[in-house]
Amino acid sequence: MVKNVRITYRRRHSYATKSNRIVAVKTPGGKLVAQYRKKSVSGPKCGDCKQALKGIKHLSVKAYKTVSKSQRTVSRAYGGSRCANCVRQRIVRAFLIEEQKIVKKVLLEKLSKKKAEKSA
Ligand SMILES: [Zn+2]
Repeated sequence: MVKNVRITYRRRHSYATKSNRIVAVKTPGGKLVAQYRKKSVSGPKCGDCKQALKGIKHLSVKAYKTVSKSQRTVSRAYGGSRCANCVRQRIVRAFLIEEQKIVKKVLLEKLSKKKAEKSA
């Protein structure tokens, strides 16, 4: 006797679309039935370098509402939006810009002092 390995959908959606994926599963009673699978989610990416963010669950937009905050974000500035490397870059860049401003200020002060001495 040939085993019957064909399974049918259990819901009324009858097309093999992305949202209608099934897997054949054997029940404890020995029956082969369709088990519905959820769509896979790619998860959040860094807004700058487009790499997948670490430490954040890959959930559907709706599922993020039900999950705790620690699973949605990383406790860091820009956590859950930018990756650690990009945040470091931002901090370093901002620091260097501020340093440059200070250097400019000091140079201008020196120049104005020299001018004052020359004129006096
Ligand atoms: Zn990044």
